[in-house]
Order: sequence, then structure tokens, then C-alpha cells
Amino acid sequence: MTKILAVSDVHGEENENLYTYLKNNDDIELVLILGDITDFGPLDFVGTFIDKVADCGVDVIAIPGNCDPKGICNAINEVSFCLHNNIIAYGDAILFGYGGSNETPFNTPGEIQDNKIYGDVYELLANYDYVYNDKVPKVRILVTHAPPYNTEADKMENGQHVGSQGILKSIHEFEPEINVCGHIHEAKSVSKIGKTTDVANPGMLKDNGAVLIDIKDGSNYDISLVSLDE
Ligand SMILES: [Zn+2]
Ligand SMILES: [Zn+2]
Repeated sequence: MTKILAVSDVHGEENENLYTYLKNNDDIELVLILGDITDFGPLDFVGTFIDKVADCGVDVIAIPGNCDPKGICNAINEVSFCLHNNIIAYGDAILFGYGGSNETPFNTPGEIQDNKIYGDVYELLANYDYVYNDKVPKVRILVTHAPPYNTEADKMENGQHVGSQGILKSIHEFEPEINVCGHIHEAKSVSKIGKTTDVANPGMLKDNGAVLIDIKDGSNYDISLVSLDE
């Protein structure tokens, strides 16, 4: 049993409802923060915010977003664990992390060329595949800031899809059970890629969006959108 709550796109604005929700749901063990923690800084906010979340009695793991400045991974690592370009086992899950986003028209600090995203995410998933033991199943969770291309999670208000083709391609190749992502604030959703991968974007923290992943064991889980104000 592992219960994980994912939130995203904080942009420097705390939401008291998150702390209340965590205190009311004390079986949640881990909070994942999916990037854009700050709004182009300041980095001081990272420690303040993560400490407040951790004070609710949970572990915290985070990745940077494209709107976080240089030094964000160090700032995260000072108080918790930065999962960017990294793999960690957590309870019945294996978490693969990749922050930043594919290129945008806004020239933000954390943009990465989509073919590099593809190469890096491919390598993360392939390295784990190499050691995977099917006698001990684990729910593989790809934790990214950018959503996969052409899904519910990357759809802007005007209907245009702006997600990462690299992330989509890696998902097709390795079929992780879950991809939690953020970045497109208005694309709060849970949907599916093919038959294999649940894709969930909680939307902005200030809008009370969060994704709850309730893992019964390494091969059974539920995933749903929750409202932090309920
Ligand atoms: Zn954002
Ligand atoms: Zn973003």
C-alpha cells in the first residue's frame, strides 16, 4: 500500500487547502511536486514551501518546471529530493523523473529540446527495464513537468496540443503504468494513452487540483483527480 498525492504549477502561490487536505488524509505518504514551483524565482520560496508540505507528515519529492530559475535542483535538494533525470523506488512504485519542458514561444529558463528529452527519458526507462524483476511487480510512474503530446493533458484552451513528442514516444516504447505531469494549467485531466498508461495533470495548485494515486500493490492501483477544497 502506497498513497501518493501529486500537485503542480505552484508558481509561488501556496494553497492552505493542501495542508488541510494532507492533515485530513494522513494515509498519504508522499507528495510529488511536478514543477513550476516558483514563478521565475525567488528560490527561497522552494525551501519554505517544501518544508511546510513536509510538516504535514509526508515525504516530498519534486522536479523543476520551465518557469523555475537556474539552481532549482539544488534548492529542492537542500530540503528534499530532486527527481530530475533520476529514478527512485518508493514503496510499491518506481518513480522516473524529468523536469523542464519542451520549447515554448516564451523563452523560459527550463526549456529543453524535445529530442534531448526523448533521449534522456528513454534512457531512464530503459535502465530500469534492464533490471526489472517481474516477480516483484512495481507501478512505474513517469513524473514529468511537460505533458505528453496530443493528449488531454497538453491541450490548451484553444484546442492546440503543445506537449512533448519525446515524452509521448518514450511512453509508447516502455508503457509505464502512469505519467503524472503539469505545465498546461488549463488541461487538468486523467486520460489514457493506448491501453497501458494513465496520464494525469492536476492543473495549478491554486485551483485546488491534485492527483491521488492509491497503490494497493505493485500491480493494482487507482488514480483520480481530487479537489483540495473538498
Ligand atoms: Zn506552470
Ligand atoms: Zn511549465
